[in-house]
Amino acid sequence: MITIEDETLLRRAIGIAAHAVTLGDAPYGSLLTGPDGAILAEAHNTVRRDNDIAAHPELKLARWAARELAPAAAARTTMYTSCQPCTMCAGGIVRSGIGRVVYALSTEQLVELNPQSGDWPTVPQDGPVLFEEARAPIDAYYRPT
Ligand SMILES: [Zn+2]
Repeated sequence: MITIEDETLLRRAIGIAAHAVTLGDAPYGSLLTGPDGAILAEAHNTVRRDNDIAAHPELKLARWAARELAPAAAARTTMYTSCQPCTMCAGGIVRSGIGRVVYALSTEQLVELNPQSGDWPTVPQDGPVLFEEARAPIDAYYRPT
């Protein structure tokens, strides 16, 4: 359920996205709050500036949370973001332990506004193969003798 407080923080994330445009960056912004609603960190997209495909604000905040917060504290945070996290960021968010995500535009709405945003081809993947060889470093790490 989205509350008035959620909407206020979402408006701030949208404001971060708008500010990013004035800096020459892509229009995506996010922030992370603690359980009391206090803002812990903010970020915007710097993919072009940093020449880094992973410089999405959601992934930056997920990495920040995983690095700076204990798991129990991360679980009590909420990410507010101007657009629904992409699959790359969603994976990072899961691994970070962030407890909740609230977004403004859905991916579908974003693609409707900018069809290029959804123009990601699937990459062919072949496997599994070489199981016995590939399992050796896994066994060495997780089941040392
Ligand atoms: Zn992303």
